[in-house]
Amino acid sequence: MATHAPTDPADDPSPAELLAGRNNLRMHAMDGLMLDGVKLSAIAREVGTPTWVYSAGTLRSRYQALAGALKDAGLDAQPHYAVKANDHLAVIATLAREGAGADVVSGGELRRALKAGVPAKHIVYSGVGKSVPELRLAVAEDIGQINVESAEELAMLSAVATAAGRVARVALRVNPDVEAGGNSKISTGRATDKFGIAYDAAAALYAHAATLPGIQPVGIATHIGSQILDLAPYRDAFARIATLVRTIRDAGYKVESIDCGGGLGIPYRNEPAPSPAGLAGAMKAAFHNMDVRLALEPGRWLVGPAGVLLASVVLTKQTPVKRFVVVDAAMNDLVRPAMYESWHGIVPVSPVDAVAPLSPADVVGPICESGDTFAKERALPPLAPGALVAFLDAGAYGAVMSSPYNARPRAAEVMVDGDRWTVIRPRQTIDDLWANEVLPAS
Ligand SMILES: *Cc1c(COP(=O)(O)O)cnc(C)c1O
Repeated sequence: MATHAPTDPADDPSPAELLAGRNNLRMHAMDGLMLDGVKLSAIAREVGTPTWVYSAGTLRSRYQALAGALKDAGLDAQPHYAVKANDHLAVIATLAREGAGADVVSGGELRRALKAGVPAKHIVYSGVGKSVPELRLAVAEDIGQINVESAEELAMLSAVATAAGRVARVALRVNPDVEAGGNSKISTGRATDKFGIAYDAAAALYAHAATLPGIQPVGIATHIGSQILDLAPYRDAFARIATLVRTIRDAGYKVESIDCGGGLGIPYRNEPAPSPAGLAGAMKAAFHNMDVRLALEPGRWLVGPAGVLLASVVLTKQTPVKRFVVVDAAMNDLVRPAMYESWHGIVPVSPVDAVAPLSPADVVGPICESGDTFAKERALPPLAPGALVAFLDAGAYGAVMSSPYNARPRAAEVMVDGDRWTVIRPRQTIDDLWANEVLPAS
């Protein structure tokens, strides 16, 4: 099973080692931790904490690195940003301006992508449970491609498109039955997962799709999981998809596009991680000479390293057995450690804290659950009340997964661009929490 091996805190990279591996962050001797040209302490002073901070420059440079790797490999391949990783309009718009399309998994995300300026023809809609109203929206907007995940959905879409007098361009999302992903909750390409069409049924369903009114089958899609740190499952999945496409073509059907999915992992813990060039190489090995348009759906890889979550230390609590650093961010803000046992780097913001001696501490939030733990036995400086820390690589599956649990207003979001910054979502107020609550008449 692709679950996390428990990480030994003795092998954790130090805050200095984490910063050395991240070119958008640096510790300035006077100004403390900087994201690009902006002092994180200045943002915390004006906006408070917890606050998400994203680097527009990092979004742009990562998109360009990915697009460049595909181009260098000689591939005709279009990245569609997987909006679910961070659906803020400013994030989608920044990537769209670089040329990214969008991969969406709900009607709401579809509307967000359009609102952020992604052309409909560059939108792909994936997901195992698209409702009839959602399919109607996709058909009415004439989006680029709908990735269909079952025979049942194909029938629904045929009816919706026919009723609208439209023809939907469809790819079949195929489940290649491979193990991938950093955690079993984010592995999606095994035969037992809910996603995709069974590999052995796909060729027959493609032929059936070609007979349905309102449906134009154009390709095959796959998406095998998330936080994938090894190219082997990609190679296996792509080889199986190539074989399938040949089978479908041999039966006389056109296959114009192959959507390779997302899932490329990032080095949260400075672990070795595949590069876009490596992924492009795997795509090329499987699909060169096939005369297809390629697409991919990266989410985390584009936005994860572009964001940090800024938090303040509430207090440090010493028990007979442990030091606990209690911060004002919690699992309602960043749920990944509680939900996926994920590891996030934690770096002090003050230049004084950055040179203080390190000792182990558990870093926890204020929520009334033991799961509200960000890190165990992490080597950190003393950290007095009010000290700022940054949770690294928090741009993906961070703010989007947050909730107001424990009546904690949603954190503010800020976007840095060079040496300027903008509040792109003000902190929710306490009044906002119940603004839509209704008391029944008594
Ligand atoms: C979640 C998802 C992605 C993005 O996954 P990342 O690991 O963030 O790259 C891409 N495609 C589909 C269909 C998804 O569900």
